[in-house]
Amino acid sequence: MDRKEKLAALRERPDMAVLVIGGGINGISVFRELALQGVDVLLAEKGDYCGGASAALSRMVHGGLRYLENGEFKLVRESLLERDRLLKNAPHYVAPLPTTVPIFDVFSGIANGAVRFLGLTRRPSRRGALVIKAGLSVYDLFTAARRLMPTHRFRGRKETLKTWPAINPAIRSSATYYDAWVSRPERLGLEMLADATAASPSARALNYARIGADETGLVLTDEVNGDSLPVRPRLVINATGGWIDLTNAAIGASAPVMMGGTKGSHLIVDNPALFEALGGHMVYYENEDGRICILFPYLGKVLIGSTDIRVDDPDQVRCDDDELDYILQSLAFVFPSIKIAPEEIVFRFSGVRPLPASKDSFTGRIPRDHFCEFIEPNGHLPATLCMIGGKWTTFRSFGALAADMALQRLGLTRKAGTEDLAIGGGRDFPADPAAWCATLAAESGLKVERARDLLERYGTTGRAVAAALPDTMLPGSDYSAGEIGWIVENEQVENLADIFLRRTTIAIGGGLGMPLVDAVLAILAAGKGWNPAKTEAERDAFLAQLKRQNGVALSGQTDTNDRRSAQCA
Ligand SMILES: Cc1cc2nc3c(=O)[nH]c(=O)nc-3n(C[C@H](O)[C@H](O)[C@H](O)COP(=O)(O)OP(=O)(O)OC[C@H]3O[C@@H](n4cnc5c(N)ncnc54)[C@H](O)[C@@H]3O)c2cc1C
Repeated sequence: MDRKEKLAALRERPDMAVLVIGGGINGISVFRELALQGVDVLLAEKGDYCGGASAALSRMVHGGLRYLENGEFKLVRESLLERDRLLKNAPHYVAPLPTTVPIFDVFSGIANGAVRFLGLTRRPSRRGALVIKAGLSVYDLFTAARRLMPTHRFRGRKETLKTWPAINPAIRSSATYYDAWVSRPERLGLEMLADATAASPSARALNYARIGADETGLVLTDEVNGDSLPVRPRLVINATGGWIDLTNAAIGASAPVMMGGTKGSHLIVDNPALFEALGGHMVYYENEDGRICILFPYLGKVLIGSTDIRVDDPDQVRCDDDELDYILQSLAFVFPSIKIAPEEIVFRFSGVRPLPASKDSFTGRIPRDHFCEFIEPNGHLPATLCMIGGKWTTFRSFGALAADMALQRLGLTRKAGTEDLAIGGGRDFPADPAAWCATLAAESGLKVERARDLLERYGTTGRAVAAALPDTMLPGSDYSAGEIGWIVENEQVENLADIFLRRTTIAIGGGLGMPLVDAVLAILAAGKGWNPAKTEAERDAFLAQLKRQNGVALSGQTDTNDRRSAQCA
C-alpha cells in the first residue's frame, strides 16, 4: 500500500486497536511486536522515521559501563543481552567494537563510587584503574554464559603509549574491552517497519503524520499536504521520546510531567591523523570535568561526542558552537597533539535523550532505564500507555514490555517473540560475506567491491538493490542512480533529507556535494512527479536545513564539482 492508499483506507475506516504515536526506534519496536501478534495497529510519525533521538545516538550498542556506578545493574545486564542479540539478529549493521579506556589514576573514584552508590553524592569524579577494573569484571561476569567477544584486558603505561602513541602522555594505564556499534541505526528502524508491515496486513505505518486532537477526538494531520482525518484507536501508545509531555498535552491526556530530556551533540571529523591515532578502537574517556566522552572510527571518519544539556523543546535542538568547542576541548585532553581544522568538521548532529523527569543536577546521573505508565481514558481519549526512557540498545526489550502491557489491556495473548528474530537484511546473513559478494558479483555483473558496499549498506537486501538499474555512480559519490531510485521507490521517502540523512549515510559520512544533491533531487523529483517550482523549493529547504541543523554549507552552485564544497558553516 502506498501513502495515498493508506490515507484513503484510514479515511474509510478510522478505527484500529492500537495507535502508536512516534516512529523512533522504540515506537517502531512496539509496532513490530504488535504487528507480529496480528494486532490491528497504526504507527504515526510526525517527521521521518528515526529522525529524532534515534538518529542522534553515539552509535554504541552497549551495556553501559558507566551506569554500573549509578547502581543500574539490571539495566546493564539487560543491555548486554540485547547487545548480544543484535550482534546475531542484525549482523549487517551491528558489529563488535574494541573499546579502550585511558586511565590517569589508580585509586581515584573508589570512595566516590561507593558514596554515589549509597546516594550520598551526585557529583561525577575521576575514575581510577580499580574502579574501572571492578566495572569491567561485572561486564565480563554478565556475559560469561554466552561469550561472543573477548574479555577485558589492561595495558601498562608503556604498552598503552606504544599502541596509541598520540594519547595524552600523562596516562598511567588503559583498559580494553568489547562492546558493539551500529553503522546505520536509522536504516535498522526502517527495516523493522518493513518486516512488520510485511508480516501483517493490519499493520500500517505513516511518516509525516502528526497526531493531535480536536473536540471530537484524535486527529492525524498529513504533514505532506496538510489534510486532517480522525483516528479512533482502542488504545494509544505514546512513544514520542523527548516529546512525550508535549504529545500528552496535544492529545488532551491529563498526566504529570514525565520527561526531563537532555540534548546531546556529536561531530564527524575528517582528520586522518586522528583516525590513525585510534587504531580501530573506540576511546571511551573521561573529560576533565568527569563527563564521559567518546571517540571512534566511523565510516572512514571519526565520531566525537557528546554533550548533555537540559532542554525543553526537542524540535529546536542543534549542535551549537559552544558544544562544538566543548567537544574539541575534550578531544584536546585525550589527544593533545592532534589539531582539528574547522573544515575538517564535516557534519554535526544533535538529539534529545528521552530521560525520565529528574531533579538531579548532574545530567549524567539521571537513570537510563525504561518503564511504561498508563494514563487512564479521559473523554474521547482512550487509555494511553507512555514509553518512558530507554536506550537505543534496549529497543527490543522495551518494545516487548510495552506490547505485553498493551496486549493485556486489550485481552489478547502473545503469539510470537522477537528475541531471535533476524531484522531486514540481517536475514540469511552469510557466514562467509566474501563468498556472498563474489556470487552476487558473478550473478549481477557488478564488481566485487560494489557487491561488498551493497552488503554493508543493505545486508542481504543488497541483492534486490543490485538489480536496480542503472548502476551508474552519481557525481562525487559511490551511490548509483539505480540504488537511489530503489530507495525512492521502496522506502517511504518524502524529501531529500530522508535520503541523505536517514536512508543512506551520505551526509553523516561527509559525502555531500552540490552535484550529488542535484542528481539525487532529479531522481526524487521524477519519482514524485514534482514540477520545477516544487523541485527548486525542495532543494532550498534541504540546503537551509543542512546548514542550520548539521553545520554543512553547500555552495548552492551546480558547477562546484567535488565534495570539498561541503564545509562546516
Ligand atoms: C546524544 C545521544 C547519544 C545517545 N547515544 C546512545 C548510544 O550510543 N547507545 C544507545 O543505546 N542509546 C543512545 N542514546 C539513546 C537513544 O538514542 C534513545 O534512547 C532512543 O533513540 C529513543 O528512541 P525513541 O523512539 O524513544 O525516541 P525518538 O527517536 O526521539 O522518537 C520519538 C519520535 O516521536 C515523534 N513525534 C513527536 N511528537 C509526535 C506527534 N505528535 N505525532 C507523531 N509523532 C510524534 C518525533 O518526531 C520522533 O521521531 C543516545 C541519545 C542521544 C540523544
